[in-house]
Amino acid sequence: MRGKKGWVIGVGLVIVAALLVFAMSPKAKFILGGVMVNLGYRFQDELANYDFIHDESITPDEIWEELKRQNDLAADVREKFPRTVRHPVVALVACMDARIDTNELVGDTRRYYYIVRTAGSVLAEAEQEMLELAVLNGVRLVLLTTHTDCAAEAAAADPKMEERFPAMTNLVDERERSIEEFLARPLIRDAIAAGTLKVQRARIDTDTDRLMVPDEQ
Ligand SMILES: [Zn+2]
Repeated sequence: MRGKKGWVIGVGLVIVAALLVFAMSPKAKFILGGVMVNLGYRFQDELANYDFIHDESITPDEIWEELKRQNDLAADVREKFPRTVRHPVVALVACMDARIDTNELVGDTRRYYYIVRTAGSVLAEAEQEMLELAVLNGVRLVLLTTHTDCAAEAAAADPKMEERFPAMTNLVDERERSIEEFLARPLIRDAIAAGTLKVQRARIDTDTDRLMVPDEQ
């Protein structure tokens, strides 16, 4: 009986402590939220082959059914616990590589980010327009990333793959020129000159999601 009472007091103290943390500081809330998100990642991360098996024993229809079932579950939660609508301040360009998790990259789940994802982080004219639209909508930082061990970059360096995927590999080859084009767009150029917009380059370490910034920046 006494043991049970102590257990109840212990749980009560933990709850009070958690409430105090939440009442005290936005930074503490942010970090605690990140810790809990990471707990969720750890819980799910080891569930290999639980639902999506990477072989032919599962059909595309079964994958879709499972995806829809998981979406229903997630959407039910979102319905019960709606989230705040944010106005993004960052537009992030990243490769479509599934190893890059943009939430982990920024350590933030608050939806302050427009995300443009293309193989090899290429910026065709359409993507340049998307970024310009984001800046029109209030974005003040455009982060252009590439990443280590990029399959699209490797494809662009392989004549056989270049032949098979000419449009994509050509855009990878032309990436620097596309960035120059983007920087020269009047709205972008003027916003940078006025100090209301920064365009930052970085390379992502694919293993850790850490941003590696070129020396000159
Ligand atoms: Zn890539």
